[in-house]
Amino acid sequence: MSAPQRKTDIGPPHFKQFLPPVIQKNYASWKYHEVLRPGTMVHVAESGDKVWSVRMASPRLISTDFVRDVCDVADKYCDGFFRFTSRHNVEFLVSDESKVKPLEDDLKKRGMVMGGIGPRVSNIVHTQGWVHCHSAATDASGLVKVIMDEFIDYFTTKELPNKVRFAVACCTNMCGAVHCSDIALVGVHRKPPIPDHGRIPNMCEIPSTIASCPTGAISPDPAKKSLKINNDKCMYCGNCYSVCPALPISDPVNDGVAIVVGGKVTNLRTAPKFSKLVYPWLPNNPPKWPEVTNAVKGILEAYVKGAQKHERVGEWIDRIGWEKFFKLTKIPFTFQHIDDFTFARETFRTTAAFKW
Ligand code: SF4
Ligand code: SF4
Repeated sequence: MSAPQRKTDIGPPHFKQFLPPVIQKNYASWKYHEVLRPGTMVHVAESGDKVWSVRMASPRLISTDFVRDVCDVADKYCDGFFRFTSRHNVEFLVSDESKVKPLEDDLKKRGMVMGGIGPRVSNIVHTQGWVHCHSAATDASGLVKVIMDEFIDYFTTKELPNKVRFAVACCTNMCGAVHCSDIALVGVHRKPPIPDHGRIPNMCEIPSTIASCPTGAISPDPAKKSLKINNDKCMYCGNCYSVCPALPISDPVNDGVAIVVGGKVTNLRTAPKFSKLVYPWLPNNPPKWPEVTNAVKGILEAYVKGAQKHERVGEWIDRIGWEKFFKLTKIPFTFQHIDDFTFARETFRTTAAFKW
């Protein structure tokens, strides 16, 4: 067994060593918190100690210059302590009240945008998109940029009935928090992958590619020393493409964006909820994605108009009912809403590999 003092690079270090001293001292003994400004809140401990959090937006895919700026500010005003929230907001944790205002002024001078605390939208958690990931059906950074441009006032000043958490995932692998966000966008493919028989024998391992398909749609094609796809069983998940790059699935015309709403993680008032489908497909129309932004705007405006104070999007929908939600938002109700999967194909429900 290794000596207790031995340091290895296996596993992350314990998070507690990175907490500011005031948080370590008052760990799990906080009495209340108060939102002072859209980007600033204070937590008060049972001991009377206080810690101020100053939140600013980040583009998530960030440059080294941005990281240097953030570290400079943290060194200057909060002994180097800051954190990225789960939705990639940057939060500076200040234990000295006299440093809060100078910190806010400094951030303003550097052109940073503060906000996102309280009944507002916060930064958008998102995935890699066209910049990094091979299976993207839409772009994450581009969509996030246009959504935040549209709703920036709800980050910096304006209030909503409650928090609205956005998320974007660029395919149904969903590396973002799409399944549990108030309003979430998810990239969807709508065509089966097309096998590239010239490359499959050289690039792909046949058994693991066959095993990667959740619906059992892939089988060997011995004549071509390749693979074949049973298109009727394919639900366009793109899993096989992650394993075998010679099964490309991206399609500029048929790929697009689905919108799901009503999810939340908190168990405050009501149990956590999964998001549910409201738009099965909208076109990829970069760089501004007008169809997607208009759709999100319609949902948010209906929520602002109809929700009671403190109601999250899902709670509002539960109160008024889905029928009324579709009426208020004027979203066409289509067969895809009846079951999230049936628009793929119905036959895969009958396979041995994939059953509900
Ligand atoms: S959501 Fe899909 S496309 Fe986006 S980063 Fe994750 S695996 Fe890649
Ligand atoms: S269901 Fe998914 S893994 Fe199977 S063939 Fe279709 S895209 Fe590939």
